[in-house]
Amino acid sequence: MKTFFLNFIMASAMLMLTFNSEAQQAAKSKAPQAGKPAIEAVSATPVFTGTGTDWFISIKDAPFPGLPYTYEALEPVIDKATVEIHYDRHHRAYFNNYKKAIETSPETGEMSFYKLFGSITEFPATFRNNAGGFYNHVLYWSNMSPNGGGKPSGRLMDAIVAKFGSYEEFVKQFEDAAKTRFGSGWAWLSVDLATNELFISSTPNQDNPLMNTVERRGFPLLGIDVWEHAYYLKYQNKRPEYIQNFWNKLNWADVQARYEEYFTLVSRLK
Ligand code: MN
Repeated sequence: MKTFFLNFIMASAMLMLTFNSEAQQAAKSKAPQAGKPAIEAVSATPVFTGTGTDWFISIKDAPFPGLPYTYEALEPVIDKATVEIHYDRHHRAYFNNYKKAIETSPETGEMSFYKLFGSITEFPATFRNNAGGFYNHVLYWSNMSPNGGGKPSGRLMDAIVAKFGSYEEFVKQFEDAAKTRFGSGWAWLSVDLATNELFISSTPNQDNPLMNTVERRGFPLLGIDVWEHAYYLKYQNKRPEYIQNFWNKLNWADVQARYEEYFTLVSRLK
């Protein structure tokens, strides 16, 4: 796990360096090159991934993480403008708003995300919407990669086949959960906190499977945002097409790492 994160951080740092030098070169040249969109660096570094000890740090200490790739990196599945607006406006607003909410409910400041979500109904709705919105998007960005796609392997694939019968059946059930979520919300693959079984669910708004609002609580491995802001610029009303294309950018290494992590954290999560 440590190696995974070190590699992730080093790869991200190298990407940042590359983008910075490209951005500097672009800045030197006044006229933009025809047909070649400028590459924009994302300023912050990805120090918060919602994994490992991130689950147990106090919510007041969580930083707003960098996007682990450039805005156009998920094209053609998700267009540059959508990623930029989604990350830099929507996600950042959830972050800013939950930090503001801590000022009015200072007793929450020392709580971890894990503890807050598990008792979310005891706090003002702004926490449910904004701490949920903050964490859910950290997972979403991390669940995707410019080099995504393919299928899971190892222990996760074994568990998927054991639970759903086949990978294809898992995909079908996950897509159905995402397509049929009425209005705004998310579909999830999680590990049941009571039984350690995989399960698929969907939640409204910015709820997630860890919140004490859901019927079946789970540790989220994979989440797809089906709010219109996640896809409307490119797909308009064609939510099913966005969901089908999502698999092409899915970072199975991240999902698998979260699955392995669950079993290392499980004694602290119950
Ligand atoms: Mn969103």
